Amino acid sequence: MQSIISALENKKILISDGAWGTSLHKLGLEPGECPELWNVTHRKEVFSIAKSYIDAGSDIILTNSFGGSPVRLNHYGLENRAAELNEAAAAISREAAGNNHLVLGSIGPTGSILMMGEVSEQKVFDGFFLQAEALKKGGVDAICIETMSAIDEAILAIRAAKDATRLEIICTFTFNKTTSGEYKTMMGVSPIEMVEAVTKAGASIIGTNCGNGLDEMIDIVQEIRKSDQATPILVQANAGIPVLKDGESVFPETPEMMGSKVARLINSGANVIGGCCGTTPAHIRELVKEVNKLR
Ligand SMILES: [Zn+2]
Repeated sequence: MQSIISALENKKILISDGAWGTSLHKLGLEPGECPELWNVTHRKEVFSIAKSYIDAGSDIILTNSFGGSPVRLNHYGLENRAAELNEAAAAISREAAGNNHLVLGSIGPTGSILMMGEVSEQKVFDGFFLQAEALKKGGVDAICIETMSAIDEAILAIRAAKDATRLEIICTFTFNKTTSGEYKTMMGVSPIEMVEAVTKAGASIIGTNCGNGLDEMIDIVQEIRKSDQATPILVQANAGIPVLKDGESVFPETPEMMGSKVARLINSGANVIGGCCGTTPAHIRELVKEVNKLR
């Protein structure tokens, strides 16, 4: 097991991976199909995504387990296979990463809103606990709780993952720009509120993923740094904000466009950078090239 904090101390900036969801769809995952089931039914395809990011120069890759909490798998009737699917996800990324790269076990939101009483706190906690435990068993180095929008759910996930694994925990939220120009999550949480809550709950790396391109991510990092100058920040940006083209969402930013913003992102205070929706190994290659210039 490797420490992402020590790796950061050595290399100063780390490069994470690019999109999983949009990559799975390119390989044939149909809308409405469970992405995590592919860890056992389409192992080769999932492995090829993990490997493509290692080959592109990522220091860190995630796992195909974003929707792997039992609460979320329940939508597909796969609740009882949560441990198996998460362990498989971790094992695939571990195999692709070898021992010289880090693997972060991805944990996304349950899709149910606690505040609305759609699911109980205990059930959410138990689900994240089981998921994190299985990811550790499959060989991850740390846990990455991502795309969060509610504080209560993020805190449950951090506590559950810490209790289950004792590994380092990363937690990132997804923000959108409001009409008044502020950044808030879907549940109304600001970057500063996120920082306070998740660092207190025990996350060793904080940050933001999805929802935005690098221009907006730079604003968000600056916002976070106003209240926290010490905690490392992870940013996984989309390849721009999607535009509708012939009825399909297209992510507009080329690898070069993303690459041109890397220096500004790092100067704003980001420490680990990678991609989210719409990014490809070509985008990661470009990030690596730009970061190497700054090292
Ligand atoms: Zn995304």
